[in-house]
Amino acid sequence: MSLKAILSKIGAAERASGRIAGATRLIAVSKMQPAQRIAGVLDQGHRLFGENRVQEAADKWPAWREKYDDVELHMLGPLQTNKTRQAMQLFDAIQSLDRPKLAKTLARLAQELGRCPTLFIQVNTGEEAQKAGVSAAGADEFIARARALDLPVAGLMCIPPLDQKPAPHFELLADIAARNGLSELSMGMSADFECAVAHGATCVRVGSAIFGDRPEINREN
Ligand SMILES: *Cc1c(COP(=O)(O)O)cnc(C)c1O
Repeated sequence: MSLKAILSKIGAAERASGRIAGATRLIAVSKMQPAQRIAGVLDQGHRLFGENRVQEAADKWPAWREKYDDVELHMLGPLQTNKTRQAMQLFDAIQSLDRPKLAKTLARLAQELGRCPTLFIQVNTGEEAQKAGVSAAGADEFIARARALDLPVAGLMCIPPLDQKPAPHFELLADIAARNGLSELSMGMSADFECAVAHGATCVRVGSAIFGDRPEINREN
């Protein structure tokens, strides 16, 4: 599907659910994608991108940023504590805040650097052992902890289990955000972004539907 087609589907989903036009931003997830495909999307004027790995983003994005100074880059993948500083220098937002140790490191480095990316707390709504994120039951407490550290927490992010209907997970995430006064909801991917828009997503993270399948050789991610 083209970028334009995705944007028009997001617009239609906003209208169908009575949301304001433009309420949902599209994060183009460019992980593992060939440079040529990314160039094509930048060339169409899109500027908001997501990556999963610090090293990959460090290899790719400084050069694009030289060419397009209004690029906005979000970190979507699990963040190792020892890569926090580098991530804070590369990304405008980090969507994978998921544990106290990372929160403390972000707070310490924010003091030192004098700035901090916008943060989303990842919630493991499906309670999947292999997935990152705080549990739904522990989310309120973790949000309070992050706020007590003065971290700029804007919202929540989730990745529902592949084998389940996403809507209940989106509803759960929206409930947690609402009762904690958080306005940003990052939810919805290529297969379910329209459903996420209907449930209040303020950003959807769409990769393969925009860029095509990620090359097979890199599938370990
Ligand atoms: C890869 C990824 C996406 C995009 O997935 P698609 O199915 O290609 O749209 C979204 N969010 C996260 C966290 C991802 O890792």
